[in-house]
Amino acid sequence: MKDFEEAFREMEPSALREVLIESPNVRWEEVGGLNSVKEELKEAVEWPLKYPDLFRELGIDPPKGILLHGPPGTGKTLLAKAVATESEANFISIKGPEVFSKWVGESEKAIREIFRKARQAAPCVVFIDELDSLAPQRSGAMSAGEQVTERVVSQLLTEMDGLENLKDIVVIGATNRGDLIDRALLRPGRFDRIIEIPMPDEEAREEIFKIHTRKMPLSKDVDLKGLAKKTSGLSGADIAAICKEAGMLALREIIEKHPRASPEELKKLKKEVGPRHFEVALKKISETRKRDKGSAINYS
Ligand code: ATP
Repeated sequence: MKDFEEAFREMEPSALREVLIESPNVRWEEVGGLNSVKEELKEAVEWPLKYPDLFRELGIDPPKGILLHGPPGTGKTLLAKAVATESEANFISIKGPEVFSKWVGESEKAIREIFRKARQAAPCVVFIDELDSLAPQRSGAMSAGEQVTERVVSQLLTEMDGLENLKDIVVIGATNRGDLIDRALLRPGRFDRIIEIPMPDEEAREEIFKIHTRKMPLSKDVDLKGLAKKTSGLSGADIAAICKEAGMLALREIIEKHPRASPEELKKLKKEVGPRHFEVALKKISETRKRDKGSAINYS
């Protein structure tokens, strides 16, 4: 029977293939900073998925839904993947607006399908990015579009309320705009654990630099501490972009210097990413961010 049950989990009705089940591979070490957030997620997600019996025996209800909220690029998706990896859980990721666009006219059905799939793949983390787009605050008079939203919200709530006997599914929502979330979603038993994801401080930025340069041949004089100092106000995603850009600059230099080198010759060359690459990359990414911020999007 156990074998059949296992097989049943893997069986995949063809209509549901659009919802992709992943088994992510992001470890806690790959998330820089955010130590208290990691601890909180361990208790709220990893423990209930790993030790459901202990929770039952102690008579505690684990949170069903967790809302990660903070500025863009601060690692919300990364954290959700890490907690799924570390809990040995599957991962289903959807973006709020996708539910509307992909399944026009069938948005509630889409939500039902996602949760059906999650039950099959349990233990499973369902990650809903841009939750605010899925569940904006409901107002009195509604347009047709708002009615769809209303039905989607109700469906989501029904599914989350129905997770009672399904302790091995955890829903993690993420948003840049906590103020736009429907209050009904934040009631106890729904997204009742709200975790703020802050911009990284200097120490966290240094860790993020270390994570993203781990595989790079850095020259000895690259000062990651100094870079962390200079990147105040930038997010983890910005730092990842700086490291990538620095690597690309070094790569470009090699190719431009040796345009006709054979693969063997290229292999023998010394490769190094140096401080000057980081300086140029930092300038480029900071300027792009300044431009983006100027475009009047306020994420606070
Ligand atoms: P958005 O709100 O725009 O969806 P997000 O908060 O979900 O953003 P992620 O998608 O998790 O951000 O981050 C984008 C990328 O930035 C990650 O894939 C990772 O490379 C890098 N990054 C962000 N934060 C961190 C961090 N704390 N440690 C290491 N890398 C990070």
